Amino acid sequence: GQKEETDMNDLADEYLRLSYHGLRAKDKTFNADFKTHLDPKVPKVSIVPQDFGRVLLNLFNNGFYAVQQKARMGIEGYKPLVEVSTEFVEKDQEIVIKVSDNGTGIPESVKNKIFQPFFTTKPTGQGTGLGLSLAYDIIVKGHNGTLEVNSKEGEGTEFVIVIPVN
Ligand code: ADP
Ligand code: MG
Repeated sequence: GQKEETDMNDLADEYLRLSYHGLRAKDKTFNADFKTHLDPKVPKVSIVPQDFGRVLLNLFNNGFYAVQQKARMGIEGYKPLVEVSTEFVEKDQEIVIKVSDNGTGIPESVKNKIFQPFFTTKPTGQGTGLGLSLAYDIIVKGHNGTLEVNSKEGEGTEFVIVIPVN
């Protein structure tokens, strides 16, 4: 794909819906809330929209998977939630995109392996283990950005993407 001047807010909103509706279509029992927090000051940015869309789709799918796993534990009052936020940091000329969930979280022993190709904790057929390694390549190598994870086991996970605006 070619780089195009892209509205990151539109992309985030579109792929969050796509992820939710895709998972619902496969499994009618699937349910979760999702929210967007989009900064209207985010400028258009030169990215490959299909590649970036795949990154976001995988982060959202991972988030929905994690909240669904936690929902199955039957914790009283638990409300599964996946969120995306965007922010334009003017002084650094960067866009910060955060994808967060209040799902299972990532155990400390697993955290340093999640960006490796083929690493998955999902049952056979449910995960290839390629999503995050692909995301890392697309963001870091393809767009000169960074991808980091913050997570606490049992509480949730946040992926932070930073993309320079040129
Ligand atoms: P896959 O989704 O096919 O397993 P990924 O590369 O997308 O592959 O993710 C690798 C692993 O990272 C997952 O199997 C899971 O253990 C962990 N992971 C990723 N995102 C989350 C998340 N939001 N919450 C909990 N664990 C996660
Ligand atoms: Mg995945």
